[in-house]
Amino acid sequence: MKTQYDVVIVGSGAGAMTAALTAHDAGLSVAVIEKSDKYGGTSALSGGGIWIPNNHFFKKKGGQDSYDQALKYLQAATQGEVSNERIRAYLDHAPQMVEYLDKYTQVKYAVAAEYPDYYPHLPGFLPGGRTLDPELFDSSKLGEELTNLRLASPATLLMGKIAWTARDAHVAISRKFGWQLMILKLMLRYKLDSRWRKKHKTKRDRRVGLGNSLVASLRASMLDRDIPIFLNTEFIDFVMEGNRVVGVNVSLAAGNEHVINAEHGVIIASGGFEQNQTLREKYLPLPTNVAWSATPPGQNTGAALSAGQEIGAATALLDKAWWAPTIRVPSEDKARGLFAERAFPGAIVVNSAGQRFTNEAGPYLEFGEAMYEDDQHSSHRCIPAWAIFDANFRFKYAMGPLMPGQIMPDRRIPKEWYDSVVWKADSLDEVAAKIDVDPKGLHTTVDKVNTYANSGNDTDFGRGGNVFDRYYGDTNVKPNPCIAEVVKPPFYAMQIQAGDIGTKGGLLTNEHAQVLHEQSHTPISGLYAIGNASAAVMGRSYPGAGSTLGPAMTFGYIAAKHIAQGKAHD
Ligand code: FAD
Repeated sequence: MKTQYDVVIVGSGAGAMTAALTAHDAGLSVAVIEKSDKYGGTSALSGGGIWIPNNHFFKKKGGQDSYDQALKYLQAATQGEVSNERIRAYLDHAPQMVEYLDKYTQVKYAVAAEYPDYYPHLPGFLPGGRTLDPELFDSSKLGEELTNLRLASPATLLMGKIAWTARDAHVAISRKFGWQLMILKLMLRYKLDSRWRKKHKTKRDRRVGLGNSLVASLRASMLDRDIPIFLNTEFIDFVMEGNRVVGVNVSLAAGNEHVINAEHGVIIASGGFEQNQTLREKYLPLPTNVAWSATPPGQNTGAALSAGQEIGAATALLDKAWWAPTIRVPSEDKARGLFAERAFPGAIVVNSAGQRFTNEAGPYLEFGEAMYEDDQHSSHRCIPAWAIFDANFRFKYAMGPLMPGQIMPDRRIPKEWYDSVVWKADSLDEVAAKIDVDPKGLHTTVDKVNTYANSGNDTDFGRGGNVFDRYYGDTNVKPNPCIAEVVKPPFYAMQIQAGDIGTKGGLLTNEHAQVLHEQSHTPISGLYAIGNASAAVMGRSYPGAGSTLGPAMTFGYIAAKHIAQGKAHD
């Protein structure tokens, strides 16, 4: 490792790598430092989706979107809490960033034309076209660097080993016409590549999808340019020259400290603080627990937040997270997010009074907020909440780690999961007793939902009442693809936690991704922050699938361009 680069980037998620490529292509020397022994961060485990309004992929398919329509939507979603300059910077640069990656790198996206924005009630909403989904990527192109890639969790792979795109997964989940054929094709493709797997002594698919595709293709593009990532290199704090940030102090695996000077700028992309229990308890609503997060354990501990505060940086949104309800499986190192299952017909989610408290099929961020709201403003508990379903649901659909019964019958559920991951009984009363939920309340709720299944109209929370809810509904279930009766024993319960896929709050930045001074709100010379290390440009909202990675990558692109224009120390 040299001691001097033009740009030093802290963290190796998708935003960091996009910044690295952009800075390099603008003629700057770049070092990326990563504290763990794998690159990719949460980005590598994610869906890899990016929310890019007005993108060229959608337009090429004849889709209609515009800057003004997206502006209206984002302004409505962020409710005046994010500066117009930042919102406009996002909308200006996000399509450019994607075109740049598409043209000059190995990163390949396609439009998820049917994936709706998350807020159908807001002006400027689109029922699809703004979310982009990574194409599959041949990970053997990484050569030896494949061993350093943070691998996707088996939960995101077909049958725990076969890569697919989010568009494929959607066809299978909503049982669209031809879904079985599509799965057969994916299985055949996997089978035909057995020689490669034998040679590399692995069961994993050579093709990678979702966040693994994004990170692997970014890393391959960095290798094309000889841009280094220094693993096991932990950012500790900033090197200052007067009021300017001119480098970083790092700790290496052997415990040695080291200084890396950054001639033109430092870009902080070290994620949020969701893996730091002390910071969670300090800033997030209670109760809170690192174990409920779906992000890699021990990584994103808020180092940049503390170091930034020490040099007088402004912060914002520290009480917010990218909430996502999660289920814990004891043998796994992180929780599993429930993104699609809540929309499947025949499962409801209740609090300890046995009552529903929100539209289960709604966006995951709002679901998490509803858990806190109900928990804090009532005499019962909503953290944890409980998913309740019957034998019909169990046979047809997945819920967290439980694959549909037709693939994974009850006898194949690991014994230790009973009464720790899943609770099962012959009657609703018995299930309620096992999980300490009010049985009367549960009966009343189930009776109501059963009438909604027939009318198609959830008069309590409007489940399945809009195009976003119905995205993951079962198109074969009528009249409402998100609601079915809960009637057939045995009955099941699973515990749901107020989890997250990262925190939202961090260093406050301007439209160039420069970190601002707490007092003056002027830029701290030489310092940029992107991704979950910065306060989200989405404010408190989650406007559409890809609203965390889209901005991380876009502001990485913006920061690198700004540095290349020599403006970091203006
Ligand atoms: P990360 O990608 O987590 O990268 C931060 C990196 O910094 C890590 O590698 C970490 O080890 C490193 N680091 C931390 N501290 C230090 C230090 N002191 N020194 C050096 N390195 C350090 N979002 C979307 O937009 N679209 C999706 O489809 C999507 N799907 C998701 C699915 C799942 C299951 C999960 C868990 C999340 C998903 N997300 C998605 C959320 C998204 O993955 C994260 O919000 C995003 O990856 C955050 O990017 P980041 O660059 O800020 O952090």
